[in-house]
Amino acid sequence: MPKYDLMKAIRDELLAFTASPLYEYRTANKFFPVVGEGSHDASIMFVGEAPGLTEAKTGRPFCGAAGKFLDVLLESIGGKREQVYITNIVKDRPPENRDPTPEEIALYAPFLDRQVKIIQPKVIATLGRHSMGYVMKRYDLDLELEPVSKIHGRSFETAFFDDEHQSHPLTIVTLYHPAAALYNGGMRDTLKKDFEILKKYL
Ligand code: URA
Repeated sequence: MPKYDLMKAIRDELLAFTASPLYEYRTANKFFPVVGEGSHDASIMFVGEAPGLTEAKTGRPFCGAAGKFLDVLLESIGGKREQVYITNIVKDRPPENRDPTPEEIALYAPFLDRQVKIIQPKVIATLGRHSMGYVMKRYDLDLELEPVSKIHGRSFETAFFDDEHQSHPLTIVTLYHPAAALYNGGMRDTLKKDFEILKKYL
């Protein structure tokens, strides 16, 4: 099936995802699920945590304040949004901007796993600790997992398997969440420096 159709199937399933504890909150507020955005042939896939208010209202990932800074970071390495793919682990907004629960992460993560198989990126760049925790465990890097304050800006080599059980090399790059830089100027410089590692994959 073409990548577009596979991605559309995910969107349709998410629209009807009544099994999610976030479904009613979404529909009551006329929010959208946020599937992801960008190139289906991207080398770099960014994975954030969950949509914020602006994202849930528009159905687009990282389009609020944190997203503006993500754009700045991408520009700083000569990249553009259209070149990469941007998504989250949890595709619906948790109420009051709270962190996603482990149950919500477990429920939504299979959608992310499918997106990885569709896009087949060279790199997954995790944004924040929830995304880092899930992605590192999912791709057999449990033993390397440490607090993001310790392993931000690093890369880890692993692999993923497609539906035909073919192995594909995969690099995981662990980054702070861009929202962290909104309240901490020093973090802006750290994120900019850490982002440079992605330049060679653009
Ligand atoms: N924060 C996230 O983790 N994801 C978004 O899409 C927006 C803000």
